[in-house]
Amino acid sequence: MWIVLIGPPGAGKGTQAELLLEYLGVPHLSTGDMLRTAVKSQSSAGLMADEYMSKGQLVPDPIILQMVGERLERPDCAKGVLFDGFPRTLGQAQSLDATLEGRGTPLQVALELRVPDEVCLARMKDRKRPDDRNDVIARRLEDFHRRTQPLVDYYRRRGMLESVDGLGTTHEVFTRIRAALDRRRADSASP
Ligand code: AMP
Repeated sequence: MWIVLIGPPGAGKGTQAELLLEYLGVPHLSTGDMLRTAVKSQSSAGLMADEYMSKGQLVPDPIILQMVGERLERPDCAKGVLFDGFPRTLGQAQSLDATLEGRGTPLQVALELRVPDEVCLARMKDRKRPDDRNDVIARRLEDFHRRTQPLVDYYRRRGMLESVDGLGTTHEVFTRIRAALDRRRADSASP
């Protein structure tokens, strides 16, 4: 299955992605994880990305698209991918659609995890990531609303959107996600 996970920082995307991977049996493509690895290895893309990430800003589309494009070439991405934290801009979404359509494996579902800002802020304050400093957290949420939220409408118009309430226990949220995906699969299987 080809699926993107959309939600504000602190919405629990990473936790739900882990459960989903087991359920769907597809690889996990988290641009945040890939960037953190690149930063650690001090590769040229990593050094460039770090300048943006440490300020809570989005890394420019060309760096992200190059990284994702290379990852999609690997054989484990033949049958599906769970995209997590990508796409985050309309440009990234359009580019992903063009790439996947060109391969004959179009995106099937955009799964939106809905969580209010105040809950995301509280959750991010509990994490210990270097980009979870107070000043940076607010910036990342603001960027989400300004640049990533428009993707919800983009996918809704294309008939790909599933919105799920992200409040509750991990298990409760996962049960909702699974129900939404099962419904999608049943719909796409029916004539
Ligand atoms: P995440 O782990 O998904 O919250 O990403 C951590 C940080 O990496 C973000 O705050 C951005 O600076 C950067 N990042 C991750 N994915 C993307 C993306 N698709 N586009 C631009 N920047 C990204």
